[in-house]
Amino acid sequence: MNTTYNFSAGPAVLPKEVLVQARDEMLDWHGSGMSVMEMSHRGEEFMSIAAKAERDLRELANIPDHYKILFLQGGASSQFAMVPMNLLHEKKKADYVNTGQWSQKSIDEAKKYCTVHLTASAEDAHFTYVPTLDKWEIDPDSAYVHYTPNETIGGVEFNWIPDLTQVKGGRADIPLIADMSSNILSRPLDVTPFGLIYAGAQKNIGPAGLVVVIVREDLLSRPLNGTPTMYHYKTHVEHHSMYNTPPTYPIYIMGLVLEWLKQKGGLIAMETINISKSKLLYDFIDASDFYQCPVARPDRSRMNIPFTLKDAALDNEFLKQAKAQGLLQLKGHRSVGGMRASIYNAMPYEGVMALVSFMKEFEKIYG
Ligand code: PMP
Repeated sequence: MNTTYNFSAGPAVLPKEVLVQARDEMLDWHGSGMSVMEMSHRGEEFMSIAAKAERDLRELANIPDHYKILFLQGGASSQFAMVPMNLLHEKKKADYVNTGQWSQKSIDEAKKYCTVHLTASAEDAHFTYVPTLDKWEIDPDSAYVHYTPNETIGGVEFNWIPDLTQVKGGRADIPLIADMSSNILSRPLDVTPFGLIYAGAQKNIGPAGLVVVIVREDLLSRPLNGTPTMYHYKTHVEHHSMYNTPPTYPIYIMGLVLEWLKQKGGLIAMETINISKSKLLYDFIDASDFYQCPVARPDRSRMNIPFTLKDAALDNEFLKQAKAQGLLQLKGHRSVGGMRASIYNAMPYEGVMALVSFMKEFEKIYG
């Protein structure tokens, strides 16, 4: 098979070394006589896999003990409901920042449980930028402030962590909640400004089927009346994510990815590589009249890079020729069209080089 590079937004590319190891361990994990898929989640083998994954995640992101780590199912989308169900406490309002389609989904879901106060919105410019803190306003009665540090579809990323004490109506004791589905582990992570972080695994962590939640333990009080047991964070904290059968195979693959990250030098090294990969592509796009990226420069995502061709009638030809050269899944999200190159941690620098050189050739012919 020729070399291929997979630019899917998720489920997305995994490190080749991880796939090779998973293949080698598929039939018999460490002499246990079983595949990981066949193990009881309560057996010592799987318990050791899950415990190591948690330890490695704590180590990589320096997560203190008073933050609990949960390995759940239901995707990041289930967190859109679990967050208000568990964190409203006695309050009736929550604040949400709207920077694009994933923010909007979290807002729509929260509205089922509370009044949503819009902290700030980038709708006025078709969600192509991050509103600066001077444009934010928090309702002092809100239970928390939720935002999406990386909008996977729009390609808009916060390059800073909001300091709520600097916001009109804000206070240090309002928990900050983040949907980090598409940029977790792509740069150093300090969890301490956050009350809760969640991330679907299928971009930078592992396969689909797993969502990782990192929650400060003092926030784990009573959920709304009627909250299903499975939607109660405390259930999963008390049972160490083993209240029911957890997504065992995705947890195992996550463990391999975390080991890979450690071997690569951890999150500081990852950030350096991610900066140079994204710079390579953005610099090329900006220097060309044929390709365009709609996102404001300071707010461009290092993970998801949307771009358009000068003439949308060439889109299909672009995708066809890219695929023939092993450059896969570059089609933009169905709602926005154009192209999107998702270049998560596991995308090698060579993959972005190959993409840029293909784009150059394509422009020569059709530009
Ligand atoms: N939030 C963001 C930022 C996402 O990119 C996605 C999925 N692409 C989701 C939430 C929803 O995740 P899931 O499909 O795992 O529910």
